[in-house]
Amino acid sequence: MGCESSTDWLCQRAWVEIDLNALTHNVRQLKRQLAAKTQLMAVVKADAYGHGAVSVAQTALNAGANWLGVATIPEGIELRAAGIQAPILLLGAVHSPEQVRAIAYWQLQPTICNSKQALIFAETLKEMGQTLPVHLKLDTGMSRLGTMWQDAAEFVQLVRHLPNLDIQSIYSHLATADSPDTRVMEQQHQRFQQAIRTIEAAGIPLPKLHFANSAATLVDSALHYDLVRVGLATYGLYPAPHCQGLIDLKPVMGVKARVTQVKDIPAGTGVSYGYQYIADRDLRLAVIGIGYADGVPRNLSNKLQVLIRGQRVPQVGAITMDQMMLDVSSIPDLQVGEVVTLLGTDGNQSISADDWAETLGTISWEILCSFKHRLPRVAV
Ligand SMILES: *Cc1c(COP(=O)(O)O)cnc(C)c1O
Repeated sequence: MGCESSTDWLCQRAWVEIDLNALTHNVRQLKRQLAAKTQLMAVVKADAYGHGAVSVAQTALNAGANWLGVATIPEGIELRAAGIQAPILLLGAVHSPEQVRAIAYWQLQPTICNSKQALIFAETLKEMGQTLPVHLKLDTGMSRLGTMWQDAAEFVQLVRHLPNLDIQSIYSHLATADSPDTRVMEQQHQRFQQAIRTIEAAGIPLPKLHFANSAATLVDSALHYDLVRVGLATYGLYPAPHCQGLIDLKPVMGVKARVTQVKDIPAGTGVSYGYQYIADRDLRLAVIGIGYADGVPRNLSNKLQVLIRGQRVPQVGAITMDQMMLDVSSIPDLQVGEVVTLLGTDGNQSISADDWAETLGTISWEILCSFKHRLPRVAV
């Protein structure tokens, strides 16, 4: 049950709705794109892009995802502590024996980015008398984590001969998969293939290979290999406009708040801090209980629209820490307690994270991750 009909006091101010049926739908749609040999990793880092890691992970696994991806050790521990048994890849790099011990204890599968990290892992695991499945990262052009692709064979050979490390996969990450111009992606793919060939030529048996994020998964099945690592599309957003319609995705997140006060103000009245808005006519204002401390970017002040009773209304004046004001002159007899949709669908209108991202000059990934924990996550 959502908050619309709930009398739960948590739902009396503002909340994030998570549509787990949409998530299931998205995972099934993604699975349908994949060959039988290709597994699906649901990337649930950053609290599942703000959606709540445990419930998203459980739902994605039930819908057919095989792996989970996290960025940090505590993110992996949260999933294990909730009883999740699926393999969990730690996408971030670690460099200390303490981290290695935590990874081994919680049965996470680490990414090893260079020989120095590999040596720290091998030494610590040998002391512990434990072997760990590990994943090797190559840099084919992202210039973030990983060993340079030209040095792939040497790197893999070194790790192979270290004790207590069991190489499960070799992978790389794309820098421009969401661009309609595919040249950089193709160059990265050639480098990846070249690295794989030199590893094979050195007589090393190939482990699993993976390369694709959401965009690459949607645009090119040649990049799927043995596993795809999908974040954004799981949450129902397209990585770029040209990906729209390639598969049918449904947004999982909605953001809602309730009206806390309604009042009439005469023309000429200033609204909110700094009077960034002054009423140009007599109008009716509604105050809602959500602000920038909940994760609504203050830079949306005077640019945001929200939905009430299926109708778009403008937000006016500076967004404050916990509240913001709306011009509700067009809504007759608006009542305190009525639900306002900031992100999501109401009637035949909808507002998406892409709309906010475009207004702010950022990407939808950042919008999804921005909602704070003081907004309860409510499954619908
Ligand atoms: C975050 C991340 C992904 C998922 O990216 P999306 O574009 O959200 O699908 C995949 N791989 C790595 C290494 C990542 O860090």
